[in-house]
Amino acid sequence: MVVYNFAAGPAMMPQPVVTQIQAELPSLGGSGMSIMEVSHRAAAFGVIINQAETRLRTLMAIPDDYAVLFMQGGGTGQFAAAPLNLATNHRRIAVLDSGQWASRAAGEAARLGVAADVLATTKNAHYRHLPPLPPIAAATYDYLHLCINNTVEGTTYHHLPDAGSTPIVGDMSSNILAEQYHVRDFGLIFAGAQKNLGPAGVTVVIVRREWLHAVTAVPSMLDYRLFDQKKSLYNTPPVFAIYALNLVLQWVQEQGGVAEMQRRNEIKAKKLYAFLDESPVFANLVAKADRSLTNVVFNTGSEALDQAVVAQAAAHGLMNLKGHRSVGGLRASLYNAMPLAGVDALIDFLHDFEKHL
Ligand code: PMP
Repeated sequence: MVVYNFAAGPAMMPQPVVTQIQAELPSLGGSGMSIMEVSHRAAAFGVIINQAETRLRTLMAIPDDYAVLFMQGGGTGQFAAAPLNLATNHRRIAVLDSGQWASRAAGEAARLGVAADVLATTKNAHYRHLPPLPPIAAATYDYLHLCINNTVEGTTYHHLPDAGSTPIVGDMSSNILAEQYHVRDFGLIFAGAQKNLGPAGVTVVIVRREWLHAVTAVPSMLDYRLFDQKKSLYNTPPVFAIYALNLVLQWVQEQGGVAEMQRRNEIKAKKLYAFLDESPVFANLVAKADRSLTNVVFNTGSEALDQAVVAQAAAHGLMNLKGHRSVGGLRASLYNAMPLAGVDALIDFLHDFEKHL
């Protein structure tokens, strides 16, 4: 049975990458040593981490005055790292509450003593559309935190709101390399790897160097400037995760880069949304302009029926369609590694399910 994994993360990886990892696992480049046994100071790993950085710079057209950091701690670690490193002037950040992960970022900043002003929220509308940004007074906030793709609620800022002179910190955990953005529109972008970039364990940070400065009372492991100075080798990095990330980046390049990924993702998402919009049983309730390419949330309106879909789909090799535990329903995550054939198989299954109700 062909299996398609619709999990939101850790998520499906490109099959050729998994196969290459399998082939190389016992002996990296004929060395007789596994990547899992290689020192982060070894020349072989130096090649890998440099390649990963160069590939990411090429894929995202990252300007030279932005640093690329490979950190640990996931998106959640960045909810702390960003305010600790960057909210040092006003000690106040602005947040658009577009969903659970934006709200978590605000909560973490507040926990660290940084005021997090929620400028707008769509919580009362079940986050089915994005909160618009009200005018922001200049020199009030150190930055505006935006969750670019709301993994749980299935919405995306396809176009960034105009924050004027306030820099934007973009959480791109669930749509990095899935959709094109201009790095210069951000002061900082971060993303955990486990959705579109590879296995869990490495967190990518892209940050304007000019913004980095010496900070105190910040754990070294979250210190951007230190990680930039040490080229992400301040301590032992997640060697295997960076190796796998490098292979995923190579795969994206071979496929034609981010523009091609976006083109494919639009085709996949459009097909699934078109089916849901026509369906007498399933519905996606997200405002059309805000719909995510990578996380398609839907439901039948009946919890029992949703559960039946998840169970029966799994029996057909369509795995992990359960919505996030906080919202229930169903969710199909269509990251770069999900082929159109997986979406077709899902639509065929859902269609069949409807017919047999
Ligand atoms: N931000 C977004 C948009 C996410 O989807 C997630 C994880 N699902 C996180 C942050 C938290 O990431 P992590 O689990 O890597 O800490």
